[in-house]
Amino acid sequence: MNMRGMWTYWGYIAAAALIAAWSSGAATAVLVVLSLAVVSYAAFQLPVWCGAVNRNGTYCRRNASGILMGCGLRQHRWQKIKLMVLRSKAGDISRAVFPTAKEKFGAFIAVGGLASAVAAVIVPVVTG
Ligand SMILES: [Zn+2]
Repeated sequence: MNMRGMWTYWGYIAAAALIAAWSSGAATAVLVVLSLAVVSYAAFQLPVWCGAVNRNGTYCRRNASGILMGCGLRQHRWQKIKLMVLRSKAGDISRAVFPTAKEKFGAFIAVGGLASAVAAVIVPVVTG
């Protein structure tokens, strides 16, 4: 894997480091920082398809960075955020916004990272 590839997928490395940190009982600060790194990677950098709906009803297949972002078309970014809200109300968010396995995985690590950040803060409080 070259450096560019490494940079594209650093979020996976952060996710692996996060799992290792949890299993080795790392400090809360370390867990929170790694969790937030994983979440922001999935939200703003993970290479995915844009996924906004074109006028002819097909999904936009241009490259986008992060599951929250659209492609270069500004209209698509707004549309994506709007659709995410609408479709989550309709209970169809996973199929509509994350049509591919890669995007589902992105959503999975984003949610996992968020849960991890929350848990990192709550667990020390609960366990004292
Ligand atoms: Zn697009």
